[in-house]
Amino acid sequence: MSAAPESSPRSWAEVDLSALRHNLSAARELSGQHVMAVVKAGAYGHGLETMARTLAREGVTFFGVANVGEARQLTNAGVNTPVYLLGATLPGERSEVVAHHWVPCLNTMEEARHFNQVARDAGSILHAHLAVDTGMGRGGFLPADVPAALEAIRALSSVRVTGLGSHLPAADEDVEFTRSQFDAFDTLVESLPSRDEFEYIHLANSAGLLGYRSRTTNLVRPGLLLYGVSPFDDDNNTFRTVMTLKSRLSVIRELPPGHGISYGRTFLTTRPTRVGTIGIGYGDGYPRALSNNTPEVFIRGRRVPLLGRVTMDQVMADLTDHPGCTPGDEVELFGPNIPVSEIARKAGSIPWEVFTSITPRVHRTYLE
Ligand SMILES: *Cc1c(COP(=O)(O)O)cnc(C)c1O
Repeated sequence: MSAAPESSPRSWAEVDLSALRHNLSAARELSGQHVMAVVKAGAYGHGLETMARTLAREGVTFFGVANVGEARQLTNAGVNTPVYLLGATLPGERSEVVAHHWVPCLNTMEEARHFNQVARDAGSILHAHLAVDTGMGRGGFLPADVPAALEAIRALSSVRVTGLGSHLPAADEDVEFTRSQFDAFDTLVESLPSRDEFEYIHLANSAGLLGYRSRTTNLVRPGLLLYGVSPFDDDNNTFRTVMTLKSRLSVIRELPPGHGISYGRTFLTTRPTRVGTIGIGYGDGYPRALSNNTPEVFIRGRRVPLLGRVTMDQVMADLTDHPGCTPGDEVELFGPNIPVSEIARKAGSIPWEVFTSITPRVHRTYLE
């Protein structure tokens, strides 16, 4: 076998770790609170382990993950920062939670009682946060039930409630509702005689951190912001782009007027057209829903439009007015020149989904 050198990847995501560090310190400065770095779903597609190691070195207070599988990945990677489970646990997962000292949120009394039993059997004391449902409808105790729940859990010898948390369903969409939610949560916390026993009190995601102030919380849970994107779809100069999705021009051809481009022939050339084919598609997570919504890509210092549908592995760009491109040229699909929010909007999606849709075929490259 000949030892041919390995070619560089066709499509890749450049992840700027100094931008990540910058965004973390901006989140700290803006909130003045502890940070739980939300790294669920592979750190929003940026790669769980490298992002977690980078953030752990900056001393974040918690990592927020969706489930025990993600918590296990962090523990196996040797990350020592406390891990918080953002969603409810299943009965069969609880002994693993107790064994690794991951911090779950308690959503029901059944969950609390079972955790107590599991922790007692393991000779351990479980530290958990009480989840309060102030409007998300996904889990937790209703505010009116919180005092009684806290009292009932205090009677459990192997469970200690060390925190109190709630979540915001509409902080980037409904200011009035969110303000009342903040007030309801703060009022609840202020009414609890045991409030000083809680080490951490938390409510805000990225939008909550940017747009609102709490009287009682001391921890924020940003995800999207750490990755450099504002949920408010505004120009943000405070946060730096972390991920740039890139690919390369593979072939450039001249096509006559009236020639179809891509599946369904939804686009027909209206003039002699230079068509550049780019080696990325929905199989990489570049949204197919962008098709014919005039998405643009960035090549050699300029935006050019895409033509026709996004295919699984390739898309076509109009290079007629952008001479000088050659096969092999780098193409930015989103990043500093094409905001991911713009791609999300044109795809009828949201930046969270665009990030987490990037598939394993896309190589992640980290820049210190
Ligand atoms: C995902 C999640 C977050 C982070 O949300 P962003 O909008 O990405 O900042 C915070 N809290 C909870 C409970 C979550 O599930």
